[in-house]
Amino acid sequence: MRISDSIYVVGSGQFGLSSRYDCHIYALRAPHGIVLLDAGSGLKQDWVLANLHAEFADLSRGAIVLTHAHPDHVCGLPQLAASLGWPVITSTQARRTVETGDEDACGLTATRAMGGYPPDLRLLPCPVESTYTDQVPFDVCGLTLRPIHVRGHSPDSHVFLCDLDGRRTMFSADVVFYGGVLGLINVEGSELSGYRSDLPNLAGLGVEALMPAHGMFTLRFGQRHIDTAIAQLNKGFTPRMVGQGDLIL
Ligand SMILES: [Zn+2]
Repeated sequence: MRISDSIYVVGSGQFGLSSRYDCHIYALRAPHGIVLLDAGSGLKQDWVLANLHAEFADLSRGAIVLTHAHPDHVCGLPQLAASLGWPVITSTQARRTVETGDEDACGLTATRAMGGYPPDLRLLPCPVESTYTDQVPFDVCGLTLRPIHVRGHSPDSHVFLCDLDGRRTMFSADVVFYGGVLGLINVEGSELSGYRSDLPNLAGLGVEALMPAHGMFTLRFGQRHIDTAIAQLNKGFTPRMVGQGDLIL
């Protein structure tokens, strides 16, 4: 699904593009290849690959960058990286979880027991080519991504800031969604205190396109959604959170 000249969605449970357990999987047309953001659950991997082939004639060069190691983002990583032959880039915090296939650390053991995922879903170990760290821009396929570490949804969550099609764009993962909804969930590692300390770091960034990993996205006035959540926190209130009403992951 093409969003703009450089932004595509090639997997998503909510948009019906792949497994219902998948986050949005963004594919970015970079100067020297395709950059995939996250890998989905892997439960409909062939659909993700078919979508990639439908959108891009040349898949010879690319990379997969992980926002955080939750099952709906990471379980598809080993297969997808092997199928495409693309390197995997994670945060320093997520590296061990990905390389060892740690199902406890990625939250799969707990969420599978709650019925959130099929009983046979697994996280297999996957080699990591390189890592990124908070606020240190890095080049991937000729595209510069600036990662910003925001705890609250998970200890390893990062958003990415970049310029695409003339727009300041933020891929906000599960950190902050359309409408200023936060990804605070009842899973180990998700803490309001993380949001309290780190979300203000997303103020004043002039974000136009806000591209979360679930739900609605927008190509304009993205900063307003982020600022809505920050303003609530600054007033001493908890912002809206996923899982409330129709706000679902
Ligand atoms: Zn998540």
